[in-house]
Amino acid sequence: MAIIRKSPRELDKMAAAGAILVEVHDLVASMIRPGVTTAELDGAAEELIRSRRAKPTFKGYRGFPASLCTSPNAMVVHGIPGPYTLQEGDVLSVDCGVTKNGWVADAARTHPVGDVAVVADKLLEVTRRSLLDATEQCRPGNHLGDVSNAVQRRVEDEGLSVVRSLVGHGIGRDMHEDPQVPNHGPAGSGPRLEEGMVLAVEPMVTAGRPAVRMGTDGWSIYSQDGSLAAHFEFTVAITAQGPWVLTPWHEHARQAA
Ligand code: MG
Ligand code: MG
Repeated sequence: MAIIRKSPRELDKMAAAGAILVEVHDLVASMIRPGVTTAELDGAAEELIRSRRAKPTFKGYRGFPASLCTSPNAMVVHGIPGPYTLQEGDVLSVDCGVTKNGWVADAARTHPVGDVAVVADKLLEVTRRSLLDATEQCRPGNHLGDVSNAVQRRVEDEGLSVVRSLVGHGIGRDMHEDPQVPNHGPAGSGPRLEEGMVLAVEPMVTAGRPAVRMGTDGWSIYSQDGSLAAHFEFTVAITAQGPWVLTPWHEHARQAA
């Protein structure tokens, strides 16, 4: 396994891709309401990305047909945007990648559509917090397992399940670089984190059991038991000053947590 470290100049380039990606997520968030189709979200996202002279990383990746992955309710990840129309009470996971000047950023958020059930609210909040906990571990000298364990601890302490068969990843010029970043595992295990490494940390959580199944389209992944799922993801650089979230939420500027 070779984990590619990035120079400060390279991190700045990744941050530029990240800034466009944040705009995309904010735009999509502003459009989420009952009656909107996932294809409409995807079209708006692609238009914004191209207007920034960037590329939608997912489009064409292993033949994926869209700029966003849109995954409602029991779908965990990799949903193909289309005619699905959002309904009050849905949760919708939105994942997107942006490539700018050859550098990639990758981030996901799960949104409530209107008023959602208490269990859905809890699922989203716990998954979001597990990402913040994991991000806080992205520091030189920590181990990769500290990141993984932070997700697992938060999720399982709250009685929810980490999807084990799907993982985060290193990221840079390629969307998927070494190492794999599992969302479970012992603290203190795995490679030591060093300055310049960049990780896509992405807890995928269900309100039921951890097992998943593939949908008939060959892309979409569902919770096997039909329970609701959530997915939050940051692209995070490991720096001497601590974690640098390249795809921050607005309430969450340069430093995590
Ligand atoms: Mg992603
Ligand atoms: Mg990712």
